[in-house]
Amino acid sequence: MSVLLLTHRACLAHDPGPYHPECPDRLRAVLAALDAEEFADLVRDEAPRATREQLMLIHPARHIDAILGITPEPDERVALDADTLMSPGSAEAALRAAGAGVAAVDAVLAGGIRRAFCAVRPPGHHCEPSQPMGFCLFSNAAIAARHAQVAHGVARVAVVDFDVHHGNGTQACFEADPSLLYISSHQWPLYPGTGAVSETGVGNIVNGTLPGGANGAAFRALWERDLLPALDAFAPGLVIVSAGFDAHARDPLAQLRVLEEDFAWLTTEICVIAERHCQGHVVSLLEGGYDLDALATSAAAHVRALRDA
Ligand SMILES: [Zn+2]
Repeated sequence: MSVLLLTHRACLAHDPGPYHPECPDRLRAVLAALDAEEFADLVRDEAPRATREQLMLIHPARHIDAILGITPEPDERVALDADTLMSPGSAEAALRAAGAGVAAVDAVLAGGIRRAFCAVRPPGHHCEPSQPMGFCLFSNAAIAARHAQVAHGVARVAVVDFDVHHGNGTQACFEADPSLLYISSHQWPLYPGTGAVSETGVGNIVNGTLPGGANGAAFRALWERDLLPALDAFAPGLVIVSAGFDAHARDPLAQLRVLEEDFAWLTTEICVIAERHCQGHVVSLLEGGYDLDALATSAAAHVRALRDA
């Protein structure tokens, strides 16, 4: 079964600067891996820009205006915080990254294709409704989730986040709304400092923590014991994945020891639950992952599992 691959060259033009880990080469590495012969059957399309109305499903106008109003000169960068910088191409990249998630939801819910992977940057899960942070400018997964509800009438949408960092942004967008479920595994303690197991929203936030050094077996055990049952019990009408690959053993920003086969295992488990509740519909968006080789092989393993599950 084929998978829709959405991306846009504009996502390569977001350049937070030399030595910044969230670099354009990340996306080049992912796209090169997905150019392999075994992925010839992927359905490929360009990510559209998210519209203002779509962004406003999550973000107040002043946040959107602030991001789109930052227009650095060539070679200039504007720092929104110590980690989050905008170059001349950043606003367009952010619009395409958010638009990819929306278009993926539209494609999957239109039928014909059951899964989609959005190879985009900047990532989104740290961006709160009014606060860009952690390399993120718009809350891509949250926008996609709300779009599924508003445009397609999906009653319950789950976001499953296996990035090594807690998605404080997605959690902030969801925590008061029981029709949205947010499930995250992350290293603890680690940036951004949120994501304690005690943070449960209105019963719709499920955080699972792992200590530095935890391996793939511990990662699988956490998902099997605490997190996947919560996804199953929610009976989602659509599953959105915040697919960060920085839990990988070789990632320089964190200390977990997850491997490609663990990401593939979890992807398959998510697809099995999606099969049970929502015709297998899964939309995945790239989040973190900062070792270029590990990112490429992990993203390939994830897409292979999306295709084959
Ligand atoms: Zn991360």
